[in-house]
Amino acid sequence: MQQKFSYTLSALALVIISACSSIVVDEGVSQQLAQNRKSTISNVEYKLHFAIPKQREDSIQGSVEIMFELNRVAPVVIDFRAGSSSMVREVKVENKTIGYKFENGHIVIPQKHISIGKNAVRVYFVSNDGSLNRRNDFLYTLLVPDRASTVFPCFDQPDLKASFELSLSIPAEWTALSNGAITNELKLDEGYKQVQFKTTKPISTYLFAFAVGNFKTETRTVGTHEFTVYHRETDNELLNRNLPILFDLHAQSLSWLEKYTGIAYPFDKLDFILIPGFQYSGMEHPGAIYYRDSRLLLDKNPTENERLRQANLIAHEVAHQWFGNLVTMRWFNDVWLKEVFAGFMADLIVNPQYPSINHKLSFMLSHFPSAYSVDRTRGANPIVQQLDNMLYAGTLYGDIIYHKAPIMMQQLVMLMGDKPFQKGVQEYLNTYQMDNASWMELVNILDGYTDVDLREWSHIWTEKTGRPAIAYSTNRDVNKLCFEALDTTSFPPMYIDISPSGMNNESEQLWLQHLPYSYEIMGIELEAPLWVNSSGIGYGYFMPDSITMEQILLKHHWPNDPVARSSQHLSFFEMFLDGKIRLDTYVKMLVKCIDKETEPQIQIFLFNSLSTVFWRFADQKQRDQLAVPIEETLWRIVESNLPVDQRRAALSTLSSVFTTNESFSKLHSVWVKESIRGLSLSENERTRLAYELMIRRPELYHSIALGEIERINNPDRVAQFDFTLNAVSPNPSHRIAFFEKLNNPANRRPEPWVTDALRWLHHPLRSNFSIRLIEPSLDMLPEIQRTGDIFFPKSWLDATLWGHSSPEALEVVESWLEANPNLSPNLKMKLLQSADMLYRANKRQSE
Ligand SMILES: [Zn+2]
Repeated sequence: MQQKFSYTLSALALVIISACSSIVVDEGVSQQLAQNRKSTISNVEYKLHFAIPKQREDSIQGSVEIMFELNRVAPVVIDFRAGSSSMVREVKVENKTIGYKFENGHIVIPQKHISIGKNAVRVYFVSNDGSLNRRNDFLYTLLVPDRASTVFPCFDQPDLKASFELSLSIPAEWTALSNGAITNELKLDEGYKQVQFKTTKPISTYLFAFAVGNFKTETRTVGTHEFTVYHRETDNELLNRNLPILFDLHAQSLSWLEKYTGIAYPFDKLDFILIPGFQYSGMEHPGAIYYRDSRLLLDKNPTENERLRQANLIAHEVAHQWFGNLVTMRWFNDVWLKEVFAGFMADLIVNPQYPSINHKLSFMLSHFPSAYSVDRTRGANPIVQQLDNMLYAGTLYGDIIYHKAPIMMQQLVMLMGDKPFQKGVQEYLNTYQMDNASWMELVNILDGYTDVDLREWSHIWTEKTGRPAIAYSTNRDVNKLCFEALDTTSFPPMYIDISPSGMNNESEQLWLQHLPYSYEIMGIELEAPLWVNSSGIGYGYFMPDSITMEQILLKHHWPNDPVARSSQHLSFFEMFLDGKIRLDTYVKMLVKCIDKETEPQIQIFLFNSLSTVFWRFADQKQRDQLAVPIEETLWRIVESNLPVDQRRAALSTLSSVFTTNESFSKLHSVWVKESIRGLSLSENERTRLAYELMIRRPELYHSIALGEIERINNPDRVAQFDFTLNAVSPNPSHRIAFFEKLNNPANRRPEPWVTDALRWLHHPLRSNFSIRLIEPSLDMLPEIQRTGDIFFPKSWLDATLWGHSSPEALEVVESWLEANPNLSPNLKMKLLQSADMLYRANKRQSE
């Protein structure tokens, strides 16, 4: 007979449970449950076996032996989020089948089967397919943040690290990858084989991974490190062009990190896999990094930016091996910490690999606009967020942890100095290796290496929200510079630089601790512009004084230094969004700057700003007026003798914003010929252009679709094209039918395909029609959060709202929010983030 237990909110609940009370375990892993288990359970080991059938429809059966030590006798709660209780086949303790309770995704082992010291529970089960990403001839697990318990019974929390001993039976012609190296393969009957993997070092459940299927492998030794890549690419030229670079980039990142941390690569091997349609850019599983194939296999003639992103992504995932895998957060609210470290290290690593790139500039352009994209919104979240239950861990991810946190880190390193920071980090890694640590535990260590009160500093940077808006004014006669806040956003103390232009790009650093703040500075010329935040490290926008403003807008006077220039552009974009510059003035300025800009990275930022203003802020009349000057400027760059990267970026922008008939004919011929003046299109670019053409000329849909599909070689890409066509179709009922299919979670995969298709569905040129899909899309949001991967809710919302700027669309969003007061706070924030431009566009229109 099963015992009944009580489970209250107290962290000590399980300790005081009496045999006659009843237990209620909530869905998911609550913080209480996690703390409780952490205080009672240790030395966890999983011995796992899965039988993977060839047929994707057949269920996956598995068994797990969970070994652990208990320091007191209590019922044990094991997480298993199976679809139904019948997916638990049998539970055994000491080879005897026992009774247990299955409740809200947990197997509760009664106290009478548990003893102080070593325990072993064996469970036979059927896996839930939700996180197995099953395709016709491959599958891969993706268990971050709390999905391990959908695949097998476990303690699904990051601070109960465990060793995993895995064996798989798989179709004989397939290959397999997991965290540990393959130690043995054994032929089985009926076309199957058994693959045994080496037992892992202690890792968190979200980092356990395996992928099996029709993958080709290639092994290479670079220096002292051996790597094996798994891939499904059929284009040998693409592979030959990229693989050697990928191996080298992994090796370089590894060596760099070993040197920086003073700790040799902490796991036994490092392989990586390139997965078509993988949800994220990469995932750092120890020893088995996953990548989306298209992020690493670059087309011919990639832009400098694409090469940089490729290297940065690899460095990011490799850095996680130390930051996240070796030392892991205690609870997922600190997930940002591993991300900020990986991001920060990645930026440090790629610099020496790309000496020709302006890294200060790329840091600024890759982090600040993205951080502001959330922090400027009314749904902004702080870096450190609350998390009561692992069920909502996915909602913590976003641009703040990936982009604002690195900016904070840059300020932290400036505050501490490079060497003291590195020493602090080494102490932190050494203290907590193969274990867990929180942000505050790191702060406490770093605090020992600086005189500044890091706790107070950290409080403002990590617990407050908002992109500061700051105005500066000058009284040049008396050498006075004053800063004041334009709104009530909290202001984090920061370093900024100023360059009085009379000083030949020389800059002065100042510590801006609070607002208002005034500063005496020598050498400002009476009529020259003054560049504030000229090294771009300050967070927020700095609205220039009247003299500088006049110099920029009327005399087109910009800083010569690209970093200082870019910093001004970032400020101007924010000023536009805050309604401080008129639309026509801003567009005129953008077009002029695009024409003159020599730095490709800045030009791309300007291209993006232009697209945003054009599609999200300009009304029909303004678009008609702006189309010709914008398109003429972009064509001039496309047809110029400028470097091919710049021409390519201009062509891509042109393809996305064009509306005139002249541009349609010219772009149609570019699509047919796949090139223009020696600039050849990659397959992806050609396909995107095909969609753009189809959206603008529905009557040519069939001929363009046919012309495109005949030229796509890769079967995965053909499948994606077929999928996306549903959303691009000129037939409204066809598009509605496609959208309705997305109601079924099984049809919302691969997620990047869905997001991409949604973007076409909601293209601004079709927003009058697609506005009716906003409400049903929002209705699906909570379910999308439950069933989708961590970035999906936000990208779903972004794709749904990007094409809309009308008051009617805003009305739909606001009414929906009103009608759904019980929406989880994190999801509400995501919606407010994605709807930011919609709010701003309407605010401008009503001005
Ligand atoms: Zn990461």
